[in-house]
Amino acid sequence: MTITLRPEALEDLVARVLAANGMSAENARIVASVVAAAERDGARSHGLFRIPGYIGTLSSGWVNGRSVPKVEDAAAGVVATDADNGYSQIALAASRALLLEKVRRNGIALLAIRNSHHFAALWPDVEPFAEAGLLALSFVNTRSRVAPWGATKRLLGTNPMAFACPRPNGPPLVWDQASSVTAMGEVMLAAQEGHSVADNVGIDAEGRATTDPKAIMAGGALLPFGGHKGSAIAAMVEILAAALTGGRFAFEDRSAQYPGAESSNAGQSIMLMDPAVTAGASFGARVEELFARLASVGVSRLPADRRYAARRKAEKHGIVIEQKTHDYLRSLLPQESSDLPPRKDRGTA
Ligand code: NDP
Repeated sequence: MTITLRPEALEDLVARVLAANGMSAENARIVASVVAAAERDGARSHGLFRIPGYIGTLSSGWVNGRSVPKVEDAAAGVVATDADNGYSQIALAASRALLLEKVRRNGIALLAIRNSHHFAALWPDVEPFAEAGLLALSFVNTRSRVAPWGATKRLLGTNPMAFACPRPNGPPLVWDQASSVTAMGEVMLAAQEGHSVADNVGIDAEGRATTDPKAIMAGGALLPFGGHKGSAIAAMVEILAAALTGGRFAFEDRSAQYPGAESSNAGQSIMLMDPAVTAGASFGARVEELFARLASVGVSRLPADRRYAARRKAEKHGIVIEQKTHDYLRSLLPQESSDLPPRKDRGTA
C-alpha cells in the first residue's frame, strides 16, 4: 500500500520527526528539506531511506542536532565554518550570505566546512548556486568504505563530488557522484531489497570480488570508479574536503565508538566561480552550444535530467511513499508534535 504526499507535507513531516528526535527546530527544517528533496527527485538512497540513520546517529550522541555553526570571515575569498559537530547543510545555510557576498565581489570564493557530518546527496548544496548564475563545485569525505586501487582493505571514503553549471534556457546542469563505483546507500538498498550488485562494485573481507551487498558491508569494501583514476580522485576529495578545511580524514573516523552512528565527523568544501567575471555575457550561449553538440552526437540525457523529470512529476502528482514508511515516520513523533518555524525555500542563493 502507498500514500501520496505533497512535497511540502513530506518536508514538514520529516522536520517534525527530526525535531522530535534530538534536533533543534531550525536545524531539523534544513535537514528535512534535503531529505524531502531527495525523495521528490527520485534519489531514494538519500531520501526517507536515511531516516533510521539520522535517528540512530542523533540518539548515539555522535552528531550534535542542536549545532550552532561558527562562521569565520577567513580571507578575501574564503569563509571557514566550524559546523559544531552538526550537519554540514546547517553550516552551509549559516555561511551562505557571506559566501555570496565574497563571490560577487571577487569572482571566486571558497567555503571550507570542518567538524561536520554529511549524510545526504550533494546536489541540493550546489544546485541553488547555479540557479543564481554561479558555477559550483563541492567535495565531501565520508567514513572509510573504499579500497584504494591495488589495495584489498578500506581506507578512503565514498567521497562524493558535485558540479553545477547555470544554463540560460533551463535548469542548471548538475552532476553529483560518489568516487566509488556506486554509493554505499545503493549497496544498503540492494541488501535491504535482497538483490545483488554489479560485479565491479566491491570486494569481500578477504579482498575477493563479490556481488553480495552484505559481504561488501560486512568488512568488505567498495571499489573506486574508473580504477586507478577514480582512486586518485577519491584521494583528492579527502584532501579538498578534509585536509583543506581542517576536517577529519575517512581513516580518522571515530563513529564506531557510538553504536548506531552512521555518519563521520569530516569536512566539506564548496567552491564558487562567477562566469560573468571571466567570460561575460557569452558564457550561457557557449555552454548551450556545448550541450547542443553533445545532443548532435547522440547524447539524449544529461546528468540531472532524470531528477528534474522526477521532480516535475512529484510537483504535479505528489510523492508516493510506502504506507509502512509513513507509519514508521509517524511512530517517531510524540503524541503532540512539536512546533516548527515556518518552512523557508532552502537554497535561495
Ligand atoms: P549515480 O552513479 O547514480 O549518478 C551520478 C551522476 O551521473 C548523477 O548526476 C546522475 O544524474 C548522472 N547520470 C547517471 N546516469 C546517467 C546517464 N545515463 N547519462 C547521463 N548522466 C547520468 O550516483 P552515485 O551512485 O555515484 O551517487 C549517488 C548519490 O550518493 C549522490 O547524490 C551522492 O552525493 C550521494 N553520496 C553521498 C555521500 C555522503 O556521505 N553524503 C557519500 C557518497 C555518495 P541523475 O541525478 O539525473 O541520475
